[in-house]
Order: sequence, then C-alpha cells, then structure tokens
Amino acid sequence: MKSVTLKDKSFKLFIEESTILNAVDAVAEKVNKDLADLNPVIVCVLGGSFMFTSDLVKRLSFNPEIQFVKYSSYHGTESVGTVSENLGLSISIENRNVLIIEDIVDRGNTLEKIYEDFKKYKPLSLRVASLLFKPNAYQKDIKIDYVGMEIGNEFIVGYGLDYDGLGRNLKDIYIIN
Ligand code: 5GP
Ligand code: MG
Repeated sequence: MKSVTLKDKSFKLFIEESTILNAVDAVAEKVNKDLADLNPVIVCVLGGSFMFTSDLVKRLSFNPEIQFVKYSSYHGTESVGTVSENLGLSISIENRNVLIIEDIVDRGNTLEKIYEDFKKYKPLSLRVASLLFKPNAYQKDIKIDYVGMEIGNEFIVGYGLDYDGLGRNLKDIYIIN
C-alpha cells in the first residue's frame, strides 16, 4: 500500500516494515547488552507502543516482567500540553531497573510526566526506549537511551500510532500528505 486515507486525512508511505524491524533489531541488541543481567521491568506505554513493544520483547535474550500504562496528551494531529494517567502500574518498581517503551517522543511532555511519576516510586534505574524521536520538536532534557529512528516534525501513523483511533494496525509507517 503506497497511501492510505483515514477519516478526513490522506497519508503516504514513509517507513517500510523492513526498515522499522531493522531499527527494532538494533534497539533489542543494545537492550540485551545493557539489561539482560539487571532483571528489568519493561513498561509499555499504551496505546501507541503496543506494536513496538511486541516486536521488541520477542527479540530479548531474557524474560522480563512486562507492564502496561496509559497516558494521553494528543487530540487529532496536535500534541497538547496536559498529560494525564489513565492506567497505572500494577506492581512495585521500587529498587527495580525499569525500561519505559515509547512509540514516539515529540515535545516530550508525555515522557516527562511518566518519568516524573515513575521517579517517585524509587526505581533503581530508569531508562527510556522510543522507536521514533522528533529531535526538532523535543523540549525536555530527559535522555532517551535507545532511539530507533529520528524523524522530522510531520505527523505520522501506522505501526501502533493512530490518527483519531485509526491506523494502529498498519505494518508500515505513513506520513501525512
Ligand atoms: P509528546 O508528549 O512528546 O509531545 O507526544 C508524545 C505522544 O504524542 C506520543 O506518545 C504519541 O502518542 C503522540 N504523538 C506524537 N507525535 C505523533 C505523530 O507524529 N503521530 C501520532 N500518531 N502520534 C504522535
Ligand atoms: Mg504514545
């Protein structure tokens, strides 16, 4: 599929599945090297990172606990400043090594909120992996330990990322026309 229409917007093919999976391979390799011996808790930030988390954890050399949290900040195609928690952790992360899995870091508001929330639980370490990163939009100082790919500021969908609830199932990533 070279293009896709979701509701009122059309998108064109931007990053093919094979390229995405190469980026996932590279992130998994580093995560295996750094975390295999640390008994980490992996935290999937729903909903956008469900597909990345799924492909990433299949490539791990160890068997981590996997947790799911949900925060929301986006409405339509624009990032808004306020981020709220909809679903929290169901285990304690005190004294645990934690890896947060994000789909995309844009301005960084979502990441900052999660990071600050998690720090209060006193983890031993807190790392972040994001499949996609918009360096020109990023406004925070939190280090993103593992970045799959850097992209520009355009709005994208697919591979877990949605436009108004649609497009999460697409195996490739599409960019707005
Ligand atoms: P931030 O808080 O960093 O500005 O935005 C982070 C969240 O906004 C991401 O977790 C993601 O859910 C959403 N987001 C940011 N950029 C995009 C994009 O290009 N496409 C989609 N579909 N969601 C995005
Ligand atoms: Mg997200």
